[in-house]
Amino acid sequence: MSKQELGTICVQGGYTPGNGEPRQVPIIQSTTFKYNTSEDMGKLFDLEASGYFYSRLQNPTCDTVAAKICAIEGGSAAMLTSSGQAANFFAIFNIASAGDHVVASAALYGGTFNLFNVTMRRMGIDFTFIAPDATEEEIQAAFKPNTKALFGETIANPALRVLDIEKFAKVAHKNGVPLIIDNTFPTPVLCRPFEWGADIITHSTTKYLDGHGSAVGGCIVDSGKFDWTKYPEKFPGLCTPDESYHGVTYTERFGLEGAFITKATAQLMRDFGCTQSPQSAYLLNLGIESVHLRMRAHSDNALAVAKFLKNHDKIAWVKYAGLEGDEDYALAQKYLPDGCCGVVSFGVKGGRAAAEQVMKNLKLIAIETHVADARSCCLHPANATHRQMSDEELIAAGVPSDLIRLSCGIEDAKDLIADLTQALESIA
Ligand SMILES: *Cc1c(COP(=O)(O)O)cnc(C)c1O
Repeated sequence: MSKQELGTICVQGGYTPGNGEPRQVPIIQSTTFKYNTSEDMGKLFDLEASGYFYSRLQNPTCDTVAAKICAIEGGSAAMLTSSGQAANFFAIFNIASAGDHVVASAALYGGTFNLFNVTMRRMGIDFTFIAPDATEEEIQAAFKPNTKALFGETIANPALRVLDIEKFAKVAHKNGVPLIIDNTFPTPVLCRPFEWGADIITHSTTKYLDGHGSAVGGCIVDSGKFDWTKYPEKFPGLCTPDESYHGVTYTERFGLEGAFITKATAQLMRDFGCTQSPQSAYLLNLGIESVHLRMRAHSDNALAVAKFLKNHDKIAWVKYAGLEGDEDYALAQKYLPDGCCGVVSFGVKGGRAAAEQVMKNLKLIAIETHVADARSCCLHPANATHRQMSDEELIAAGVPSDLIRLSCGIEDAKDLIADLTQALESIA
C-alpha cells in the first residue's frame, strides 16, 4: 500500500486485525505470557527473538499504540511510558550518565525544568539552559566536550515560544549529538520535528494525543537517523556491549533504527518500570483516532480567542504564535502552518491580583492543572506548575507572574469568548 495520509494513520495506524479478529485494539490485561519451554523464553531474555514475557518491559497493547504514534511522527521505533516526565527522563538518561552534560532551551514545562535542574543534577548530569531564541553562536557556546544532547520543546509550555528546530538540529549535529524535541503541544498533526532534523521526539500523551483528560502517559519516538556509531566514545551505552544484557551491543544487533528504543526498553524499563498500563494505552488510542480533527478545532478556537483578547482594553498582552505580529509568527508560519494548538497565554492589566479575579469569574472555562483537553481550562502557572521557581527563573522561562495559560478546548469559540467577556467585565 502507498504511504497513507496522516489522518488515516491517526485512525487506523498500528493495528490491522486479521480475519475474525477484534476491530478495536485488544486490551491485553496480562502481566505475564506463557511459553512451552525455558529455551523459548531464554531467547526473549537474550533479545534473540521478539515477543513478550513481562509487562513491566513491554505489553502488546502499549506497543500497538506506540507503533501508531511512531507512524504519525514518521519514526523508526517508539515506546510508551507511564508519563511525559518518564519519557523525557528516559530520552536523556538513555544517552547521558553521571559526569555528562546536556544543553536545553530554558523555555520548558515546569516539571521538565525541575526534572533537569534538580533531580537529574542529583544524578550527576549537568544542564545548561539557553534562551529559546538563542543564536547559533549562543547555542554553540553552551556546548562542552561532555555534552550528550540538545533539548527543546516545539511550542514551549506555558511560554508558547516556538523553537527554530532546523537551527537547533544544525548546532546539535555539528557537535555530534542528537536533538531531542518534546513535541507535546503541536502533536505530529501540526508539526513533525523529524522533517526538520530532530532525532528523538518525546510526548506527554496526557495532553492532546489523549485529548480528553482520561489517562496520564508518555511516548518516545526515535527517527532512526542519528548515527551513534560515528561517536562510539560519546555513546558507549549504544556502541559497546551491555554487560547487564548478555553483552548485546544495541547498534550492532538492532541497527540505527532500533538501538535507542531497544536499549531504553531493555535497561530503563527493566530497571525503573515506568510502564503505561494497557488500559491507559487503549484510552490513548481512542483519543488519537480523532486528534487530526481536534487539533484544527483547538487551533481555530485559540486564534479567535487570541484576536479577541488582543483587542480588549483590560488585557496587557497576549502570546499566541499564530497571531500576526507575534514575536514567533514567522517561525509558526514555517513550522506550524496548520495551526499553533489551543493554548494562548495572556496578562490582565492589574497583574497577579487581577489575573486571579478573572480566573475566579470564569464559568465555562475551568481552573485546572491541565492543558490540551477537549474542555477549555486555565491555570496561573506562577501559583501552580511553576511555583518552585524563583522570579528570575520564571522570567528566564518566559513565564511572568501575571501569565494566565488558557487552553482552548473544542467547544464553540463564541461561548469561550462570551465567558471571557463576562469575566473581564467584572474586574475594575
Ligand atoms: C505535561 C507536559 C510534560 C509532562 O507530562 P506528564 O504526562 O504530565 O508527566 C512534559 N512536557 C510538556 C511539554 C508537557 O506539557
